[in-house]
Amino acid sequence: ARLANQIAAGEVVERPASVVKELVENSIDAGATRIHIDIERGGHKLIRIRDNGKGIAKGELTLALSRHATSKLKSLDDLECILSLGFRGEALASISSVSRLTLSSKPAEQETAWQAFAEGRDMAVQVQPTAHPDGTTIEVKDLFFNTPARRKFLRTEKTEFSHIDELVKRIALSRFDVAITLTHNQKVVRQYRARSKEDGVKRVAQVGGKDFEQQATYIESGSEGLMLHAWVLPVGCTNSAQYTYVNGRMMRDKLILHAIRQAFEEVVGEQEVPGFVVYLEIDPRQVDVNVHPAKHEVRFHQARLVHDFIVQAIKQAVMPLNS
Ligand code: ADP
Ligand code: MG
Repeated sequence: ARLANQIAAGEVVERPASVVKELVENSIDAGATRIHIDIERGGHKLIRIRDNGKGIAKGELTLALSRHATSKLKSLDDLECILSLGFRGEALASISSVSRLTLSSKPAEQETAWQAFAEGRDMAVQVQPTAHPDGTTIEVKDLFFNTPARRKFLRTEKTEFSHIDELVKRIALSRFDVAITLTHNQKVVRQYRARSKEDGVKRVAQVGGKDFEQQATYIESGSEGLMLHAWVLPVGCTNSAQYTYVNGRMMRDKLILHAIRQAFEEVVGEQEVPGFVVYLEIDPRQVDVNVHPAKHEVRFHQARLVHDFIVQAIKQAVMPLNS
């Protein structure tokens, strides 16, 4: 309970896109190299995530659905040094409490696949055999069926899907080595194939637009403990796709965005900042990711130093258009 209390209880299920985020992060944490995301009616009717990750053993299926059951955090000290994406052990519990959730899984070393079902606040009572390849499928049906107040806040199918699409783009930029397919109402909408590091720009261009392959400046800066690499579009380019990552997590952190803006200002003055994809790799002990429940913000222990490092690094990449 102490551990549980020290982790701020965040509301993880805001809309279909937040469900997709939690489930895909779980797949990535499970080592999946291939993830299929199937959406129906903007996620209101169905969200299905299939992965080829390490799976969940039969005996752990019900546990995975209970609150504060995480296999990823062994002690409070681990909180200081979080490497996996999920760590609160509340996503599956929260999602299943507002939907009809089916969890099917087969670890490679298990003979048969097993399935658990939870509906609303009723925990899975029984686990049954099913057919499933190595990996995990989680099906979330009828989101918010038992919480009319929240269902009322769902926007149109199109709007909810566009949130999911944007989320999937951000995830696609976090792991070039993971193949991701996104379908909506049984039509393939995005298909990101796995890319090697050398081929990374292709993934960046697929997500952020062709400009990134044709016009972006690529930079690498820093050394072990504080490193940055980025694709930065030239000033004047109208493509304003902006993505930032800290240790592989997508972030929308004020300090990072401020530093990037400042870099542009120092080189070209007050101008519209074009698109960029920025990756910061920092010693995990130098950063606190548990600031915001949605995990979009971080706290750097040496904020000034990190800020100035980003400014200096990005300045090298600021180019006027057609230079
Ligand atoms: P957390 O990710 O914070 O640990 P979750 O509620 O998201 O908590 O998941 C609970 C547990 O279920 C995880 O710790 C993990 O052991 C297991 N799990 C969830 N999704 C998957 C998956 N796709 N593959 C393997 N294990 C999973
Ligand atoms: Mg999780």
